[in-house]
Amino acid sequence: MAENAAYPCEEVQARLDDYLDQELAPEETRRMLEHLDTCADCAALCRRAYEELAEMRARMQDFQVPAALQEDILRTLAESLPNE
Ligand SMILES: [Zn+2]
Repeated sequence: MAENAAYPCEEVQARLDDYLDQELAPEETRRMLEHLDTCADCAALCRRAYEELAEMRARMQDFQVPAALQEDILRTLAESLPNE
């Protein structure tokens, strides 16, 4: 049996999310990389999934409270506390 047969495209694509989340065992990661090295289809899929992930993470950062607003909230909170 060829070594690549143990890790066909379906396996790679099924584990793509885990791979991008870095949740695969080192051995599986190695096999993924070997497959992606030799399979243009999976490499393109992986690249697209990675870009989507990166875009999603960038968008999630936009949802963080802006620093100026955070200062406002902290000041309001501080003013609402009774002074000793
Ligand atoms: Zn493949």
